[in-house]
Amino acid sequence: MNNEDLLRRSLDAVWHPCTQMKVHETLPLVPIRRGEGAWLEDFDGRRYLDAISSWWVNLFGHANPRINAAIRDQLDRLDHVMLAGFTHEPVVALSEKLSALTGHELGHCFYASDGASAVEIALKMSFHFWRNTGQSGKNRFLSLAGSYHGETLGALAVTDVALFRDAYAPLLRACDTVPSPDWRLAAPGQSPRDTAVAAAVALETYLAENYHEVAALIVEPLVQCATGMAMHDPEYLRRARNLCDHYGVHLIADEIAVGCGRTGTFFAHEQAGIVPDFLCLSKGISGGTLPLSVVMTTDAVYAAFYDDLTARGFLHSHSYTGNPLACRAALATLEIFEEDGVLSSNRRLAAQISERAAPLAADPRLRHFRNTGMIWAFDAATDDPLFARRFHQAAMARGLLLRPLGNTVYFMPPYVIGGEEVELLVSGTLAALEETL
Ligand SMILES: *Cc1c(COP(=O)(O)O)cnc(C)c1O
Repeated sequence: MNNEDLLRRSLDAVWHPCTQMKVHETLPLVPIRRGEGAWLEDFDGRRYLDAISSWWVNLFGHANPRINAAIRDQLDRLDHVMLAGFTHEPVVALSEKLSALTGHELGHCFYASDGASAVEIALKMSFHFWRNTGQSGKNRFLSLAGSYHGETLGALAVTDVALFRDAYAPLLRACDTVPSPDWRLAAPGQSPRDTAVAAAVALETYLAENYHEVAALIVEPLVQCATGMAMHDPEYLRRARNLCDHYGVHLIADEIAVGCGRTGTFFAHEQAGIVPDFLCLSKGISGGTLPLSVVMTTDAVYAAFYDDLTARGFLHSHSYTGNPLACRAALATLEIFEEDGVLSSNRRLAAQISERAAPLAADPRLRHFRNTGMIWAFDAATDDPLFARRFHQAAMARGLLLRPLGNTVYFMPPYVIGGEEVELLVSGTLAALEETL
């Protein structure tokens, strides 16, 4: 096997995600043979620094010895068993640990295998809760402008990214959006907090009129990632929580991208001092090794389904729900957080990266340099529609994997990125900008 061989066969047989396949007539696929730490390597030994954690999933590096050992150990004990009518140690231990991380406020864990499915589950559970409590008229969902919650039909209905949504609009349930608290939208003289307050006022206006039909508001706390790393002040979440309580609307925190320490706290919503009614986790939860997602919810929601009648239960399932291997990988990931004091070491690492990235913050060709926890982003001032692709290629030529969202370049490195890698991240970015802008 070599690079060319694998490329040709992949283009013959594999339909790649999020891709117009024809672009690969000119843009080569990147064949990867192995990964280690923050690095990916091809068949010729060329290495790429994975500065976006392979679509935001890989928290502790590729081939992490501790996570791999846990998966191997589990593989010899129990590969899989269905979770309806059966249970196993990894799923119980993981649910207990996750519950403890929410201070036992969200003590009931429902599992699936990917982020979009977790969003589907939260939406269905919310509606079904209202139905079980005699309010089946609450059947609409509300999301923020620019929101991204996944690409299955239910999740896409609460996603507001035209590129992913428009072709399928006739298939989607109508959902409303309210203004985003994105601080880049601030009027002159407005602080990020002012922008958050203004967006919360718009939310209140909407809810005051429509609350009797609204089951849930779904948000990506602190950072709306896929739309372009739009960051907001936690004040928005505090106000949204209060408004949802006041108007009897669920608050769904989609922390699929921002959970697991990415924003500096283990859960992003912690920074607002609130607890959502539903919390969706995926991506980093298994350290980027195996597909796993979970929806966590409250005693109150759980109790509304607990009944003699089968139909009042939550009759949703996926074949691999609560897969033991994925749960063990997640347990090993959580153990690394505990044993290595990851949240506090990430604070030091983030300060170091921000300091090194100062030339980017000061660069007049770039706008809105921003940082939350282990996410950095800035917007290139260009109208080149091919900027993202050209920048990606220029960075790859320098051994740096970055994949801008439109004009937004972002860093979401694995938490194991170190000194020289941070150098390459910043110098490679500057060089790629030099070539592209
Ligand atoms: C990635 C993502 C999803 C969808 O997760 P998949 O595993 O890709 O289905 C949903 N919500 C947010 C915020 C995401 O970043």
